[in-house]
Amino acid sequence: MKIAIGADHGGYELKEFIKKLLQNNGHEVYDLGCKDKCSVHYPVVGTSVIKKVLSGECERAILVCGTGIGMSILANRFKGIRAALCHDSYTAKMSREHNNSNVLCIGGRVIGTAVAEDLITTWLSTPFASGRHQERLSMIDEEVNEGASLNKTDPEVFQAIRAELNRQSTQLEMIASENFASIAVMEAEGSVFINKYAEGYPGKRYYGGCEYMDVVERLAVDRLNMLFGSEYANVQPHSGSQANMGVYFASIQPGDTILSMNLAHGGHLSHGSKVNFSGRLYNIVHYGVSKDTETIDMDEVMQLAKQHRPRIIVVGASAYPRTIDFAAFRMVADEVGAYVMADIAHIAGLVASGIHPSPVPFAEFITSTTHKTLRGPRGGLILSTEKFANLLNSQIFPGIQGGPLMHVIAAKAVAFKEALGDEFKFYQQRIVANAKVLAQTLQDAGFRLVSGGTDNHLMLVDLTDKGITGAEAEQWLEKAGITVNKNAIPYDKQPPRVTSGVRIGTPALTTRGFREQEMKEVGGFIASVLDSKGKDDVTRQVRLKIRDMCDQLPLYPELQ
Ligand SMILES: *Cc1c(COP(=O)(O)O)cnc(C)c1O
Repeated sequence: MKIAIGADHGGYELKEFIKKLLQNNGHEVYDLGCKDKCSVHYPVVGTSVIKKVLSGECERAILVCGTGIGMSILANRFKGIRAALCHDSYTAKMSREHNNSNVLCIGGRVIGTAVAEDLITTWLSTPFASGRHQERLSMIDEEVNEGASLNKTDPEVFQAIRAELNRQSTQLEMIASENFASIAVMEAEGSVFINKYAEGYPGKRYYGGCEYMDVVERLAVDRLNMLFGSEYANVQPHSGSQANMGVYFASIQPGDTILSMNLAHGGHLSHGSKVNFSGRLYNIVHYGVSKDTETIDMDEVMQLAKQHRPRIIVVGASAYPRTIDFAAFRMVADEVGAYVMADIAHIAGLVASGIHPSPVPFAEFITSTTHKTLRGPRGGLILSTEKFANLLNSQIFPGIQGGPLMHVIAAKAVAFKEALGDEFKFYQQRIVANAKVLAQTLQDAGFRLVSGGTDNHLMLVDLTDKGITGAEAEQWLEKAGITVNKNAIPYDKQPPRVTSGVRIGTPALTTRGFREQEMKEVGGFIASVLDSKGKDDVTRQVRLKIRDMCDQLPLYPELQ
């Protein structure tokens, strides 16, 4: 059995004895300290031992302190841990039979080695009796666990949430626009802020009782401005699309011309698609990527701008794997007297970390989502200068929205704080490094990537030469436990519901701790599933390997 052990100075000697005992009996022992009799804090050692059990690396753990009491109090704070404080083999036996204990706590100053050996041997060999005891254990879980009241009120929704947690945890999330927000972000969003109306802006609300609404909205705005070096920020847009709507309403009139990237070449619905409000209200002209390089053709952008005299040029994409030259767009806009709106929904995290050039010096308006590389809650934002502050504020509220989602704004504030930390920069660097390794692995396996590679967090795989469609690839990969989306490639001959490509991104897996080595493996999985055309035994084998990987790098271990 794999067993983690740990002790503080009060339990050090007994722990050393236990280590030898377990090893002599053929167990695999993970000793997490302490290493001598010098004073240490038992919560620190205890927590690292418990994490071995929660992550599934070890089946059981033994914790020793002076009396075992501190360790047992600590251990039982963790969901999924059933720690038993035992002084003899009877209590040890019952803790297994009735309580299915997975952590044993003992007092180094309470029992001697002979008793310890006896009770540990009993504890390791006694099975859980299950049956009515399982029922009672489940009752404990229901009473104390998070979600208990949801489970009582609405077990169907509760079960769906548990099932979704399980889905996210056990498959590889490679949709380029998705990510996993932190527990802190989720806590802020699931808070009492959900109850409050706060129409207006900090200091100028249309409702009473907004004192703390102002606190979080100001935090969010200030942090966001610090993150991007911007002068003005609006954190109220409910989504990226609404941020874009706010900018259009503030800057141009219905019927005016927008020059933006073609959806079929990687643009976004809210950049003028016929099925979107933007396409219905405005006169849309699209630029795209050139056929040979598959990168944005700035000569074409200039020529279209001169020909159509747009009021605003929209820069930004949902499926573009290359660096965007905001300065070049500014030059074009100046040539024709247009505004620039940079929509950095996908690359906001890279921009915030200085990995992708920032549009802040070059664009009047910057919009983004907060939930893609930025790793916050679902939502939108706008950056600009003071000059446009009143216009933008009034177009978001009362222009197109009512009360702001204050719980989401609280969660945005948390996410922006996370993004200001050093760790976030390293995280963004890892996203790009991971994307490069994955791209290379796929190319080595004979897959063609649109534009020949990637500079950012995503890549577009052209499956035409492989004789398969994007829709097939999406379906086969899903069967194997890899979630991606089919995506049109530039000049695609297939209809949008079929497509010739898949879009693959690395932000979510990087959040989970995947590094270059894992990305090589993942690239291999993708290649083998697609090359086999989704053959059952191949997808089944890949599925099993992915489950193993997911166990190694667990998502939200605290929630499992
Ligand atoms: C995702 C995205 C959006 C829209 O975000 P929603 O929050 O889904 O409305 C806007 N622009 C671009 C470029 C995007 O990628």
